[in-house]
Amino acid sequence: MKLLKDKIIQEGKVLSENVLKVDSFLNHQIDPVLMQAIGEEFANRYKDAGITKVLTIETSGIAPSMFAALTFGVPVVFAKKSKSLTLSDNLYTSKVHSFTKGVTNDISISKDFLESDDVVLIIDDFLANGQAVLGLLDILEQANARTAGVGIVIEKGFQTGGSIIRERGIRVDSLANIKSLANGKVEFFEESSSK
Ligand code: 5GP
Repeated sequence: MKLLKDKIIQEGKVLSENVLKVDSFLNHQIDPVLMQAIGEEFANRYKDAGITKVLTIETSGIAPSMFAALTFGVPVVFAKKSKSLTLSDNLYTSKVHSFTKGVTNDISISKDFLESDDVVLIIDDFLANGQAVLGLLDILEQANARTAGVGIVIEKGFQTGGSIIRERGIRVDSLANIKSLANGKVEFFEESSSK
């Protein structure tokens, strides 16, 4: 997606060979115009998939998910990273090791918001080693819901997550797929999506 790649080149900061900071439009300050374009792109790619819910994980997956869900006319459900006092025991849970924070979180979703007849599009901001997406897939399995695919804003294709998930036969669409962050420079793969 050219708009997104241009924004990454203009505003992304390469923190190391493995980490890209995009706090000015995705992870801290949020660019709503770009998020709308991203959400609509996901919705367009999955328009015939019969999506009934968009599933993400707090916090940065929520903004692009909202715009995709608005286009589909379906709800967004986000997995919570900490147990809130208002969450009951009626939960699906999984463990997710955070790539950027180096900690393992329990993620949870109320059983009230996933049904076995749901057809779900997972959306997240980054795909690195795939832990966040694998946690969400685990929860969808527990709920017996169907996974239509995974929409990723920025995939780091030089890390393992994309191949782990595609090898499971799951469709992954990334709107920007980074080949390398070496020498402080962002280099993209030519083809940034796979079906
Ligand atoms: P994974 O679970 O695929 O290993 O990592 C994905 C999660 O880690 C994303 O939800 C994102 O929050 C965070 N993440 C991974 N790599 C990066 C990165 O290079 N930059 C930023 N800002 N977040 C990242």
